Amino acid sequence: MKLLRALRARLGAKLFLSHLVIVLVGVLVLAVTAVLQAPEALARHIAQMEAMVGSDPALATDLVETFLRAVAEVLLVAALAALVAALAVSTFVARRIVGPIQAMTWASRRIADGDYHHRLQPLGEDELGALAEAFNRMAARLEATEQRRMQLIGDVAHELRTPLAGLAAVLEGVVDGVLPAETATFAEAQREVLRLQRLVRDLEELSRAEAGQIPLERRPTRVHELVEAAVSRLAPQFAEKGVAVRDETPRDLPAVDVDPGRVLQVLLNLLGNALQYTPAGGEVRVTAERQGEKVRLVVVDTGMGIPAEHLPHIFERFYRVDKSRSRAGGGSGVGLTIARHLVEAHGGRIAAESAGPGRGSTFWFTLPLAH
Ligand code: ADP
Repeated sequence: MKLLRALRARLGAKLFLSHLVIVLVGVLVLAVTAVLQAPEALARHIAQMEAMVGSDPALATDLVETFLRAVAEVLLVAALAALVAALAVSTFVARRIVGPIQAMTWASRRIADGDYHHRLQPLGEDELGALAEAFNRMAARLEATEQRRMQLIGDVAHELRTPLAGLAAVLEGVVDGVLPAETATFAEAQREVLRLQRLVRDLEELSRAEAGQIPLERRPTRVHELVEAAVSRLAPQFAEKGVAVRDETPRDLPAVDVDPGRVLQVLLNLLGNALQYTPAGGEVRVTAERQGEKVRLVVVDTGMGIPAEHLPHIFERFYRVDKSRSRAGGGSGVGLTIARHLVEAHGGRIAAESAGPGRGSTFWFTLPLAH
């Protein structure tokens, strides 16, 4: 029983047994056929021989017996040779099949233990090769996901550190009697708490956007109404900083098929950035134009611009060109990442252009027309 269970647990043993069964069946069929056919065939041949050289009954019986013994002997040797051949073939086949499976089992265990770098050697073109390739693809995906997860945790910890350090410093000052326990001190602490709240809110939004979980309530929407809403909402801040904002969106553009709330969010983000990175006396313009089946909205500012080497990265989360300046301005560094997800969820594209530092920036995004 135990031996049977041990054999059942080993693929190599199973393969050997299956080859053995095939050989035994072959030998059995051969033996039965030989035993059934040999006397008749032999009698036929002896009769032919007797016709040529004359008959001798004693010699004929002797011949039959000798021949049957020889056949039995040959069959026995053949069966043994077939057994040895079965052993050799099954060892070879088992090595070809069991080896890769063992390698896959080992690799799966390594990955389950957290070693995501592990990969299998290519195994050729057959099903095992396809399995190894699928396995490697899965491992690469897992590794990328794990990397993103680690990166996100690192980023979030890093982002939390600044406001928390600010808050701790204020509270420590009050406890140590260095800072007065008055409204101005608490207002400073409150600013840090607000930054934390904003960060947490942005992170929630970011994780939902990255998981594609922001539902869009699309309806035909007029572009200039969205731009008007965004510009009028930020007009007080523009006025306060002394940056002019001009809405040059044509009124006669065809409607777009979008979730107005989400597009407004994108516009507020782009306009908010333009305001933040444009010094007093500068100007921000919003325009739009039809491009085939899309409408392209453009936000142009005359602000500090973006150096070419940073342009490809500014839509990545937590990426900031000037870290201290953006953080001081309250930016959590994920606004553009969320904006990109929102635009892409609508089937549009978003991009940034800039002639370089001090020469302003242009952000544009496309939205699909409503039909
Ligand atoms: P933040 O919260 O830091 O503004 P964003 O994701 O909105 O984060 O923007 C990422 C970075 O892109 C900013 O930190 C800034 O360096 C750069 N950036 C965005 N908009 C502009 C702009 N209009 N002019 C110059 N730089 C910009």
